[in-house]
Amino acid sequence: MLPGSGRDGRRRPGRGPRMTGLRTTWTEAGEGEFFCPGCGGDRNYQRMRGQVRLTVLGVPLLDRGETGPVVECAACGGRFGAEVLDHPTTARFSAMLRDAVHTVALAVLAAGGTGSRTALEAAAEGARAAGSDDCTADQLALLVRVIDEESASRCLGRPCETGIALELHETLAPLAPHLAPAGRESILLQAARVALADGPYRPAEREALAMVGAALTLPGEDVSRLLESAARTPS
Ligand SMILES: [Zn+2]
Repeated sequence: MLPGSGRDGRRRPGRGPRMTGLRTTWTEAGEGEFFCPGCGGDRNYQRMRGQVRLTVLGVPLLDRGETGPVVECAACGGRFGAEVLDHPTTARFSAMLRDAVHTVALAVLAAGGTGSRTALEAAAEGARAAGSDDCTADQLALLVRVIDEESASRCLGRPCETGIALELHETLAPLAPHLAPAGRESILLQAARVALADGPYRPAEREALAMVGAALTLPGEDVSRLLESAARTPS
């Protein structure tokens, strides 16, 4: 929590008058929802901008510039630096995780599991567990066909890895910094299970999984180790 004067800029009670001091007046400058590190949940916030003035005998005289902005929690009243807004809300985080698992499954399926019902079922089950409640094997099969057709038209029939790599990066890069290593590893392992559902990794699946690991900012040697151990463990 940031130190400072009360919300109305008045001195806190219990302090005697001083010859000179600094007084900060806060004005509202926007609002939204954030994850409050003070009371630990998704809350509304108000962004506050502070005007610092030099006071002489309690009278504000000289402008000392702006301070903040700070973010004030509507629930607990805690004040934090604007960097707390970089942290996703719990709701946003769940949505990012859900999209990540879905995208990763699609990438692996597109790389080799298209024809396999077992792989599609495994992917749909994983996606549902991650929050894509209405995800089915048929729906994934349709999406994989769309990806195939798009790569065929955009990349003139050659393997179109750049599109999938880009998609993976866009979905996973914003999520990765907010996940502990175990969380990032679990997304990769889930993708590995999809690839392994219909037999050993195909070279294209192995490549897609390497892309997933890289987009999750997992070190290459960890990715290899995890993929090998997943292949040895019967699911
Ligand atoms: Zn709070």
